[in-house]
Amino acid sequence: MSERLAGKVALISGAARGQGAVEAELFIAEGATVVLTDVRDDAGVATAARLGSNATYHRLDVTNTEEWELVAKTVVTEHGRIDVLVNNAGIFTPTPLLTASEADFRRIIDINLVGVWLGMQAVARHMVERHTKGSIINISSIAGLTGAPLFGAYNASKFAVRGMTKSAARELAPHGIRVNSVHPGIIATDMLDLLDELGVREAVDARIPLGREAQAIEVARLVLYLASDESSYSTGSEFIVDGGMTA
Ligand code: NAD
Repeated sequence: MSERLAGKVALISGAARGQGAVEAELFIAEGATVVLTDVRDDAGVATAARLGSNATYHRLDVTNTEEWELVAKTVVTEHGRIDVLVNNAGIFTPTPLLTASEADFRRIIDINLVGVWLGMQAVARHMVERHTKGSIINISSIAGLTGAPLFGAYNASKFAVRGMTKSAARELAPHGIRVNSVHPGIIATDMLDLLDELGVREAVDARIPLGREAQAIEVARLVLYLASDESSYSTGSEFIVDGGMTA
């Protein structure tokens, strides 16, 4: 069987660990060249080294416009184009309405929302200029579909990613560029340490109809589908992978 991403060039944000790293590994196994980016440089370098010669690591803080422009330009110079962008970087911290600081709220919005917008803008400009019929995948969450107490900023950022995805999909469709959002449920990565710290992990897990947390590969397989040409008629859509949590 032929590789599903043969010859494609993909850029993934927040790929030093967690879901982004697993997506990078799967993409490479399916024939892609992958540029991993993150702010965790040591982990990013180690992950790229583990994935072999089709992986490289670049530092990219998704809140930094200049870094997005530099990385996008470097990828295009080195590899000729960018076919796939996965806006995966994100943070998850509580912002209780009555006690959270404005700074905490703005930090989550800056990384989870503005970071996605900056990434789409920087990469879509190259896709349009080079007539690349690319695929942009924005990682939202089930928190982009339903509310959760204590997570106002996270909810706001992930709902906004979902809306912005639809707007970008309509703007970029004439260029043949597709934009979709992915909405994972409870995925076993380091991000869930927070649920342990809050002492709510068991209670959250008990609400999953399939009765277990997902492994990152179960999200990565969906992201692979959206990155590949198999999803050629899907744009502006939301794809849920949540073990039934929002059913
Ligand atoms: P993770 O914490 O393992 O990975 C997130 C990565 O983003 C980290 O490597 C981190 O260094 C990076 N990052 C954070 N701030 C950054 C910045 N400013 N610039 C660049 N990189 C930055 O968690 P994960 O579960 O792999 O999360 C990946 C995505 O999935 C996130 O957008 C998250 O909100 C989303 N998500 C996670 C879950 C879950 O249950 N784990 C559920 C729904 C959605």
